Amino acid sequence: MQEDGICEEKILKKINSILGNDMDYASGKILGSMCTKPLQFANKIYSAYLDKNLGDPGLWLGTWSMEREVISMMGNLLHSNEAVGYLVTGGTEANLIAIRTARNHSNYFKNDNEIIVPSSAHASFDKAADLMRLNIIKCPLNEEYSVDIEAVKEAISPRTIAIVGIAGSTSLGTVDDIKALSDLAIDHNIYLHVDSAFGGFVLPFLRQLGYNVPDYDFIHEGVRSITIDPHKMGLGPIPAGGIIFRNTDVVGKSYFEIPYLAGGHFRQATIVGTRSGASVIATWAIIKYLGRKGYSAIVKKCMQTTEYFIEQMEYIDGIEVIRKPVMNVVGFTSNKFNVRKIDKELRRKGWALGYFNTKPPILRAVFMPHIKKNHVDNFLHDLEKITKKLVPISASEKLAQSI
Ligand SMILES: *Cc1c(COP(=O)(O)O)cnc(C)c1O
Repeated sequence: MQEDGICEEKILKKINSILGNDMDYASGKILGSMCTKPLQFANKIYSAYLDKNLGDPGLWLGTWSMEREVISMMGNLLHSNEAVGYLVTGGTEANLIAIRTARNHSNYFKNDNEIIVPSSAHASFDKAADLMRLNIIKCPLNEEYSVDIEAVKEAISPRTIAIVGIAGSTSLGTVDDIKALSDLAIDHNIYLHVDSAFGGFVLPFLRQLGYNVPDYDFIHEGVRSITIDPHKMGLGPIPAGGIIFRNTDVVGKSYFEIPYLAGGHFRQATIVGTRSGASVIATWAIIKYLGRKGYSAIVKKCMQTTEYFIEQMEYIDGIEVIRKPVMNVVGFTSNKFNVRKIDKELRRKGWALGYFNTKPPILRAVFMPHIKKNHVDNFLHDLEKITKKLVPISASEKLAQSI
């Protein structure tokens, strides 16, 4: 740190020059992110309330009441009238809280407890298992790329403290058979958590648009908690993840009493203390501003872009879309070219997709609201050029990539 302060003007100039290294949603080249530019309206609200701290809700009773309303509105999207929960830093923290809550429900004194997740589960479950010293059992997927229910059934043991289902997987946007998982959870009295971090603000609106969306939420009695993130398709500012519990009974054993707060004694089941109230107020405002119709219109546009992409991908030789997309997330691969090389070449041209080191490897595109049709055209143009230049892989490489 230097001795003397620097004047505002110089600092702003410096910031501008450093941030020149950032990518920009408007370029359309961020094709692999589940986040997007928040609504302008939300940004304005967010920046007006930076001092609100929900780690001490007694001081900010108005903000706190808005959080309860946000949770109840999201619970309502997920078919619960008794929902409780928190807006936290993101899907990762929401999943950590869910697994901690599940563990506290169970006979958690054993040190060999297990969680059962689909192999498509987000890395946050590895973090949860690591932090809580749980074994994590990853179940294979079926031909639809959702979790194999028989495998989950076989993995259940007296050591199981939670089963996780996914409604909108990170790599392909697929939805597990939550009804079947719920039946298993009830039969064995095991906590079921549904990770709908991305899908939570997509699936209800797809249904409204007439898409065939299976029930994946609190409609199924076995579901005890759901992750749903406003900072993805909710169009909210970062940080805004949501953890929603079916009702207060679920959280019962997970509260910490915090007696010393300036606003008075409160209990909390979050991992962090100080929490952004601005995120809550901005999320509240966006949900009110857009309503179901507003979100449906946004999801509709994203799906139109997704469907256009799928149609056009047919014309690119050697590239295959993994499965018909369920939402605005598309995974593709190749049995002709090295997928890692395709990713490298795309990056060289400024494209940022997600690469998943699975069998087969997956390149993932997410059609967020900042991706427009002309961006898709630019992308396809570059992808075609790249594949035309690449040397096809040998039979053995092909085998290694696709098994
Ligand atoms: C994005 C995502 C997460 C993680 O959310 P963060 O906000 O990045 O912590 C977890 N699960 C799923 C299914 C996701 O799509």
